Amino acid sequence: MQKGEDIFKKIIAHAKEYGFIFQSSEIYDGLSAVYDYGQNGSALKNNIKDYWWKSMVQYHENIVGIDSAIFMHPTVWKASGHVDAFNDPLIDNKDSKKRYRADVLIEDHMAKLEDKINKEVEKAAKRFGETFDEKMFRETNPRVLANQEKIDNIRTRFVKALDNNDLKDVKALIEEQGIACPVSGSKNWTDVRQFNLMFSTQMGSLSEDANLIYLRPETAQGIFVNYLNVQKTGRMKIPFGIAQIGKAFRNEIVARQFIFRMREFEQMEMQYFVRPGDEKQWYEYWKEERIKWHKSLGIPDELFRFHDHDKLAHYANAAADIEFEFSFGFKELEGIHSRTDFDLGAHQKFSGKKLQYFDPETNESYVPYVVETSIGLDRMFLAILSHAYKEETLEDGSQRVVLNIPPMLAPVKAAILPLMKKDGLPEKARELMDKLKYDFMCRYEEKDAIGRRYRRQDAIGTPYCITIDHQTLEDNTVTIRERDTMQQERLHMDEVKQVVLERISYRRG
Ligand code: ATP
Repeated sequence: MQKGEDIFKKIIAHAKEYGFIFQSSEIYDGLSAVYDYGQNGSALKNNIKDYWWKSMVQYHENIVGIDSAIFMHPTVWKASGHVDAFNDPLIDNKDSKKRYRADVLIEDHMAKLEDKINKEVEKAAKRFGETFDEKMFRETNPRVLANQEKIDNIRTRFVKALDNNDLKDVKALIEEQGIACPVSGSKNWTDVRQFNLMFSTQMGSLSEDANLIYLRPETAQGIFVNYLNVQKTGRMKIPFGIAQIGKAFRNEIVARQFIFRMREFEQMEMQYFVRPGDEKQWYEYWKEERIKWHKSLGIPDELFRFHDHDKLAHYANAAADIEFEFSFGFKELEGIHSRTDFDLGAHQKFSGKKLQYFDPETNESYVPYVVETSIGLDRMFLAILSHAYKEETLEDGSQRVVLNIPPMLAPVKAAILPLMKKDGLPEKARELMDKLKYDFMCRYEEKDAIGRRYRRQDAIGTPYCITIDHQTLEDNTVTIRERDTMQQERLHMDEVKQVVLERISYRRG
């Protein structure tokens, strides 16, 4: 995968040029951190959703899906802790007037120290060649050890300060570490303040406090408040899961990096209800299942890694992120959280309704524990796009931009292309189009030379181009061109559907 700031800019430009992503309300100069998906983008997004939904709901007999409302009773967010604790610590630079998340400034600083260590290791690896023992070097080299100690000290102090809500110490840490504003280079900081990320609005015509409602910042709570409805009506037995895909809203302090951090985004979440005491085992299970899911897309393994949380959220007893290496570095793509009985327990308390499960195997009633998998659909989209984008120089010296999107997720599966706009070729192509369009997304194109049409399909990631030429009129055979290898084979028109269906199938092996 190509990396760096330049390539990221190119991906953003490509996404716009080919109808994947537009800035929201662009004709009014846009709305910060809000984006619209265009004709190809919405198709890719729907395909990602479909693959996730099937992997969860269709392939697991004990997981069902729901679709809950975005608006919820305001007490839900009191019970969940979001009214009191869904905050980010923010800090402003007085010279540049730029606003930052204090935790992100500190994490970026630690990442720089980590980089220094890695450079030291790389240098030594070159110097020592084959005899290099990386583990030993990391454990004994004084410069590596000094930087590692710095990182460990910063992390311990930072976690403690956040745990104690000691914002003065967070600021002191930023000052002591000499962290400067990336824009102005100045160290002239305001105090650190907490900022609640929930958007609120009013329901009904009276603007009284009682009518204040929130736009959900996560889809999970819609699952928790419906847990008993689903368990009873679906006769679900523990362990079981409830999945949901839907919009979430967060008034992010620093919204940057395109669709990586948006103010309106979509989540795909699954809450797995388990017997208390079994949660760690299921947590490990879902960590493995989810990383397998990512790797099933054919994206190289080394672009994914786990990151265990240093600071656990108020509801969790274990948490890890699956990180993806975007062109701007490894960043969170999905979270796997062991949420204990925090949410169901809190809803039981605030609503006064019992949310227990009677376990016929143990003859006991209890509030189930929950293991959650939570992935940002837009981030998944960006991961796929970042990996897919390739600039290639072909054998004849010409250039092409191709999106190597996994074929099963590609917006268009097959382009149907008559070689020329005459001699009955368009009619023959339409005949094939009519046969295929009910089974997968096809696009018919007859304008421009065939080479240019191939390039356009490469640029939107269409895995198969099917060309109808004069030989088709004689023997009903067509060529099928594969996007990545650009190899062409000839086959009978009647075989095309089966061949494409097999190659875009979710089923592997
Ligand atoms: P981050 O640390 O990046 O803010 P988070 O830890 O707050 O993320 P979670 O609350 O665990 O995120 O949300 C689950 C998933 O939802 C994340 O892994 C991410 O993919 C997605 N997500 C969260 N916030 C956003 C956002 N502002 N824009 C797009 N996706 C998001």
